[in-house]
Amino acid sequence: MRHLWLVVLVAAGCANGLRTEQVGEVSVTTLRRGYSNVHLIETADAVVVFDGGYASQAQHMLRALESRNLTWTDIDAVLVSHGHADHAGGSQWIAEQAGAPVVVGEGDSDMLATGTNGSVCPTSWLARRREKKDVGTTYEPFIPDVYVPLNTGLPLSSVLSEPRLPGEVVAEAGHTEGSLMYVVGGVAFVGDLFRGSITGHKAVRHFYMCDLDDNAADVRTLLQTDAPDAEVFFPGHFGPLTRESVQTMVDSWDESP
Ligand SMILES: [Zn+2]
Repeated sequence: MRHLWLVVLVAAGCANGLRTEQVGEVSVTTLRRGYSNVHLIETADAVVVFDGGYASQAQHMLRALESRNLTWTDIDAVLVSHGHADHAGGSQWIAEQAGAPVVVGEGDSDMLATGTNGSVCPTSWLARRREKKDVGTTYEPFIPDVYVPLNTGLPLSSVLSEPRLPGEVVAEAGHTEGSLMYVVGGVAFVGDLFRGSITGHKAVRHFYMCDLDDNAADVRTLLQTDAPDAEVFFPGHFGPLTRESVQTMVDSWDESP
């Protein structure tokens, strides 16, 4: 067990830093601190942040901007995958620096209003070990500029009434009631719908998920309907992941009893 923890800690420690991936016309710079990802997304027409990470993590966003020759005011929008502290905690601060609107799924309005994580359903021994700490982590409550209605897929341009903004936001209850994804070009940002494996780039079940059948249905809908052209999937933790890896994951869920 000691050896396993060492592997986990080394993998998480090595994951700190910045990394930029180019997928077609979309550049994605991932700011990773330990387990969590903050994504800075550049297209020809816009710069969008997907998730602000923990409040402490968001403080490193300037490094990500500078690595891409961008400034705060280049950011057009901050999208938040859901109301957990490791995704929403730093979002409002980034938006304030940028003067950009924050977009959140409507179902997580109670979490944002209280800055709390709510209850979760652990899916592994590691998650059970983390559960108490994760559930107890809080953040500064805030009210976002825009809520995306439950279970809808909408162009970001219509959500923010800004025609040049690319991509679609998809609100899909699952990991939380207000979970939100963003699909742009050949890339999909999936929040905690699933995650990357800690020591590699395999798609695996997220640490916390209550309805596993619903989770499988949501992943299939993502692959077939919401993001049929996505080549790369960026989860909230670890990754990025290929389409094949995500498909292999969901197929393996169907085979398990
Ligand atoms: Zn979460």
